[in-house]
Amino acid sequence: MSTAERIDGKAKAAELSEKITVETASLLEEHGIKPGLAVVLVGEDPASEVYVRNKKKRAEGCGFLSVQHTLAEDTPQDDVLELIDKLNNDPAIHGILVQLPLPGHLDEQLITQSISPDKDVDGFHFVNIGKLTSGNLDDAFIPCTPAGCMLMIEDYLGTDFSGLNAVVVGRSNIVGKPMASLLLKSHATVTVCHSRTKDLPGVVRQADIVIAAVGRANMIKGDWIKPGAVVIDVGINRIETEVDGEMKSRLTGDVDYDAAMEVAKAVTPVPGGVGPMTIVMLMANTLRAARLSVGLDG
Ligand code: NAP
Repeated sequence: MSTAERIDGKAKAAELSEKITVETASLLEEHGIKPGLAVVLVGEDPASEVYVRNKKKRAEGCGFLSVQHTLAEDTPQDDVLELIDKLNNDPAIHGILVQLPLPGHLDEQLITQSISPDKDVDGFHFVNIGKLTSGNLDDAFIPCTPAGCMLMIEDYLGTDFSGLNAVVVGRSNIVGKPMASLLLKSHATVTVCHSRTKDLPGVVRQADIVIAAVGRANMIKGDWIKPGAVVIDVGINRIETEVDGEMKSRLTGDVDYDAAMEVAKAVTPVPGGVGPMTIVMLMANTLRAARLSVGLDG
């Protein structure tokens, strides 16, 4: 029998999205500013196309100006940089997002860093990373996935994690590392694990907060979870399972969800947990960029 609560990221994202829509309308009414989000997609990666479509839909739903630039797979790097320069200087655009991964001939780092830090709604620019790691969050853009995870954890544990152990499995620049910085800022004692970590189950068992961001289906077992822990599953893995004698593909996370639900306090499902929150945090960052652009609080 499961004892844990299923963290409904989809419902929370819908709630936040409504709030953003209301704030967007009043920003337009009171200050004549409509948040503008530009998404740049290079090539035809089907997963990226889905992500971009979802972001555009959500941006329009919030009342934003939503602009998509779709460039051919073989677009030269200078052309991508030229487009970003144009968007950096376009007053109608407050947030710029370059959908990753980029085709192999493009320098991801160079392109990401060419976005103005003030329009870097993904939070990947070194200026924003520096602000986050040094704890200066007033005008920093925080990467959307960890920002969404924090809001879900706070629903269960409040905003002060003093005395709590947090274990982040995965050390990527877009999830693991910024997640660790945010947890640390909220006073958790943070351990970051990766592929070289010894006794991963033993480390995870110490955690009051578990963040799984690896990309390995059901890797984190139920008996790794400390009773009462809050478990956030960032992983998205496509697996084949047999349904009524037929092989079907479905999404699953990095955590053995059913087993974790037996011991934890709360667990995010996949899908329906972190994913929807990530998209809505992009909208929150874009609204924030628009507000900051006219000197309002973020
Ligand atoms: P990534 O860049 O591939 O990083 C994966 C991390 O997992 C690395 O730090 C790696 O360690 C670690 N790792 C790999 N095998 C491990 C093992 N056996 N034990 C412990 N650690 C191990 O991935 P990412 O971009 O952070 O994404 C992680 C997952 O989250 C993916 O499934 C991705 O699709 C998903 N994701 C979801 C969202 C969302 O909105 N829901 C957003 C972003 C990502 P090393 O550093 O030592 O190689």
